[in-house]
Amino acid sequence: MDVRADAADIEKAVGVLRAGGLVALPTETVYGLAADAEDPAAVARIFQTKGRPPNHPLIVHIGGAEHLDAWAEDVPEAARLLAERFWPGPLTMVLRRGARVPYETTGGLDTVAVRVPNHPVALALLDAFGGGVAAPSANRFGSVSPTTADDVRAELGDGVDFVLEGGACEVGVESTIIDATSESLSILRPGGVTREELEEALGRPLDVPDTSEVRVPGQHPSHYAPNARVVLVDPDEIVAEAERARELGHRVGVFLPADLSGTPVDAHAVVTVPASLDAYARGLYGYLRELDRQGCDLILAYLPEQEGLGLAIANRLRRAAGPRPA
Ligand code: AMP
Ligand code: MG
Repeated sequence: MDVRADAADIEKAVGVLRAGGLVALPTETVYGLAADAEDPAAVARIFQTKGRPPNHPLIVHIGGAEHLDAWAEDVPEAARLLAERFWPGPLTMVLRRGARVPYETTGGLDTVAVRVPNHPVALALLDAFGGGVAAPSANRFGSVSPTTADDVRAELGDGVDFVLEGGACEVGVESTIIDATSESLSILRPGGVTREELEEALGRPLDVPDTSEVRVPGQHPSHYAPNARVVLVDPDEIVAEAERARELGHRVGVFLPADLSGTPVDAHAVVTVPASLDAYARGLYGYLRELDRQGCDLILAYLPEQEGLGLAIANRLRRAAGPRPA
């Protein structure tokens, strides 16, 4: 079912934001936990609700590229070009902080991350609200990002004042973040806009960090992680590895590549992963949640090709499989 928030819901959400409350917001990437980006007390509630350390900066969502200069200073020409080409869309740019952005929102930094989400409900809210909203993913810190309104309710329950319905997220992984504080741009986190698209728009190659080593403030080894332990294996080995894990007594969940669908797998639960990278990205967090729901204690997943959305998928899976805090 794909129920969308209506005008009355938008009005209610605006009231919640104006009162310093928290709204769960559908975007094309994942659901966000939104507060008035200019209200330090409201922003503090985001950190509290997520259990997120306060020095981890938030992304400010704005209603259109025409508002960019109200939130950031010294915007380089290359950033304007990308805003023109990719907004609304899953591209976040880190820029010099505009005076209206409180340090609570930027985690104490003199830079600010800004994007325009490509979702009709998010855009309607931003239009009616008039300001910007700080919105990290609407999940507990470190856990799997929500891609449906039900996921948000399961994650945060009463921690959120109002949930705007927007259906299932179409991209399914977070935005690409680029450092645009100078003309020499670099990718800080791979995401919904691909490296290839960015390079095509800029007419030059871009550095992409080794996705297992991304160190933006706010990025910890284990993140995007379900309750079950995630282990990455070669797709050709996945069926054999599942059998071995079962013999060791695990309740194993398996990401089965579509080209192996129909292969009998000795596992507690199986999700079939579509061959297209877009569909893998769209489904990724839902698969992790589903295998958790089914009570798996171990998830065997595989990395896709390192092109297009494959970079973002690999980044999230590596972090999901990363070392857990003791
Ligand atoms: P999320 O938790 O998905 O909203 O991710 C927000 C990401 O944006 C985090 O990885 C932050 O480190 C990054 N970010 C936000 N603001 C900044 C900034 N001013 N400089 C660098 N990275 C930022
Ligand atoms: Mg997040």
